[in-house]
Amino acid sequence: MSLSKVCTFAALIAASTLLSAQQAAAPQGGATRRGRGNPRDTEVWEPVPSVVTPGADNALPPSDAIVLFDGKNLDEWVQTRDKSPAQWVVRDGAMVANNARGVGNIETKRAFRNYQLHIEWKIPEDVMGADQGRGNSGVFLASTGGGDSGYELQVLDSYKNTTYVNGQAGSIYKQGIPLVNPSRKPGEWQSYDVVWTAPVFDADGTVKTPAYATVFFNGVLVQNHFELKGETLYIGAPTYKKYDAAPIKLQAHGDPGPPVSFRNIWVRKLD
Ligand code: MG
Repeated sequence: MSLSKVCTFAALIAASTLLSAQQAAAPQGGATRRGRGNPRDTEVWEPVPSVVTPGADNALPPSDAIVLFDGKNLDEWVQTRDKSPAQWVVRDGAMVANNARGVGNIETKRAFRNYQLHIEWKIPEDVMGADQGRGNSGVFLASTGGGDSGYELQVLDSYKNTTYVNGQAGSIYKQGIPLVNPSRKPGEWQSYDVVWTAPVFDADGTVKTPAYATVFFNGVLVQNHFELKGETLYIGAPTYKKYDAAPIKLQAHGDPGPPVSFRNIWVRKLD
């Protein structure tokens, strides 16, 4: 091969390599590879998601959260019974259930529909009792009336404590058995991270779409988009009762022995 032919051949190789590299890069300008379409056809640029500053760690409230309890006071809470100031006790950065007669459940002043909730709870180290009478409390994801009306995510000492499985910690009470049991020992803080999709009703009270709950218990998935059959009842089959927005409620179950504590409670509205 003559020198000129060698140079021409090398130039062709170089040009071919450059073209291949350009094709492989699939530039954003809309270059099309034969038979594979335009990547821009499937790009969405608006609306741009809001910027949210996460907490210093994943348990702490992000910038768009409503803080329901930060360890200082019960300003966001009232007695379920009569909406008077909450009578639970704030101690060592936690709110402690008040099982005294006549106190009962507390709930948020605010009402919510769909939301993301973070809440931490602790069974006392010296917990007493057994079965459902051992560290029982509850997070009502929507409080639809007095007492225990609504939709309860059970709080209980389920560390080596046998009870009916649709009533152990992480259950949607009497409806949803938790997928696994990631309970920690009494005396250790535990967490629930919940996505609550509120039920939607027609004007006449007919259920248009049911409620769904997704729950992470100590970071472990225990309820995966679980469809509720209605309010969580102690006795009888669950039924729905029309509501729009509702408070989040915490249960004073009145078990013997020291009460359950809660801390670091925040919520992000999703509607
Ligand atoms: Mg309970």
